[in-house]
Amino acid sequence: MREFLKSSRLKDVYYDIRGAVVQEASRMSEAGMDILKLNIGNPAPFEVYAPEEMLETMRANLKVTEGYSESNGLLASREAVAAYCRKKGISGMTAKDVYLGNGVSEMILLAMQALLSEGDEVLVPAPDYPLWTAAVYLGGGNPVHYICDEQADWFPDLRDLRRKVTDRTKAIVLINPNNPTGALYPKDVLEEIVQVARENELLLFCDEIYDRLLMDGKIHTSVASLAPDVFTVTLNGLSKSHRLAGYRCGWMALSGPKESVKDYIEGLNMLASLRLCSNVPAQSLIPKALEHAEEPDPLYLPGGRIYEQRNFIWQAVNDIPGMSAVKPSAAFYLFPKLDTKRFCITDDEQFALDLLKQQRILIVQGRGFNWAEPDHFRIVYLPEMSQLERAAEGLRAFLADYRQG
Ligand code: PLP
Repeated sequence: MREFLKSSRLKDVYYDIRGAVVQEASRMSEAGMDILKLNIGNPAPFEVYAPEEMLETMRANLKVTEGYSESNGLLASREAVAAYCRKKGISGMTAKDVYLGNGVSEMILLAMQALLSEGDEVLVPAPDYPLWTAAVYLGGGNPVHYICDEQADWFPDLRDLRRKVTDRTKAIVLINPNNPTGALYPKDVLEEIVQVARENELLLFCDEIYDRLLMDGKIHTSVASLAPDVFTVTLNGLSKSHRLAGYRCGWMALSGPKESVKDYIEGLNMLASLRLCSNVPAQSLIPKALEHAEEPDPLYLPGGRIYEQRNFIWQAVNDIPGMSAVKPSAAFYLFPKLDTKRFCITDDEQFALDLLKQQRILIVQGRGFNWAEPDHFRIVYLPEMSQLERAAEGLRAFLADYRQG
C-alpha cells in the first residue's frame, strides 16, 4: 500500500497548544471528569464575552456582507485600520496598505508564505506564539530563535538577537505584548530592535494583537511608529481586544519604504487574491470596534476582572515553593518557572500530563512555545477567580511531593 506522509515542511512544527496533553484532557472530559482548562487564550468559554454592540453591528451588516469583498477587504474597514495605525503614530498609512484576514493567524501564514524561499532565516522570539515558528517552516524558511530574557522582565535579549543575524536572515518577528509571557516591551528596547533591522536591512513583523490589553497604566508603542525608514508589517485584530476570537477578524498593515519590497507586495497581493477574501461579516465590525480604541478596557483596570485575577495568580504562583513568575503587564497569560532540580523535571510534556492526571488541571508546557528548556509552562488566567483559586491549590498540592521519573 502506498503510504502518504505529511509534508516535510511540517516535520519540525510543534503545536502543543492543541497537542497530546489536550487530547488526554478531551478523553478525560468525555469520561465525565471535570477539567480546569488554563490552556487556551479564548475569552468566550470563560464567560468573558464580546461587547454587545459588536454583536449588534454584526447582525445589522449580515445582509449587505453576503458576497465576496475586495481581496484585501472592505474599504471602510481598511480605512478604519489605517486611521487606528495613524493614531498610534505610524505615519503615511492609508487603506491601500491594509489587508484584512481571517484572524491574525491567516495574515501570519500569508506574510511568511509570500516572503520566504528555501533556507531563508527569520528571527523569532523564544518563547513565541508558535504559529510564527510554524509559519516560517511552512514558508520553506528556518526560524532562528532569539531569547527573551526572564531575568530582564522577559524583554528580548538584544545581544542574542544581534548574534543570530546571518546573511540568510530576512526579518525579525516581534510579539509585543507577548504571548506567552505577558510582557510589554518599553520604547528603548523597541528602538534597539529597530536599529538591528535598520543596520542589517531586515524587515520587521510586529504582532500587536494584545496592544489594548494593558495593565498598570502602561502604554503600548507600535514598533512601526519608531521605524518610518524600515519596511514593517504590523498585525492586529479583534480576537482579543473585542473578545471575538470565533469571528476570525484580523489585519496586517504595511508601513515604511516600499521601493525595495515591491516584489514582496506583489506576492502578498497574489496570495490575498488567491484566497478571494476574508470573512466579510467579521470585516464589517472593524469601524465600530476601533471607534473608541483609546479607551482602556475596564476589565484591565484595578477592580476589573482580569486585573484582579492577574494579581491573584501571580502572587499565588510565587508563594508556591519551587515556582516563580515575572509579573505580566498585558494580555492574560503567566509563564511560570519551575525549579527543575527540585522536582527532577526533564520533560515538560510529562509534567503537564502528570498535573492533568493528578489534579485535572490543563496547562501548556513551555516547549509548546518553542522554549527549549523543560522548566516553564503557561497559565491562562481568564477563568474566574474561584477557578484560579482551585488551580493555585491544585498546583501547590501537586508540587508538594512531585518528583519526575
Ligand atoms: N498572535 C498571537 C500573539 C496570539 O496569541 C494569537 C492567538 O492566541 C494570534 C496571533 C492569533 O489570533 P487570531 O485569532 O487573530 O488568529
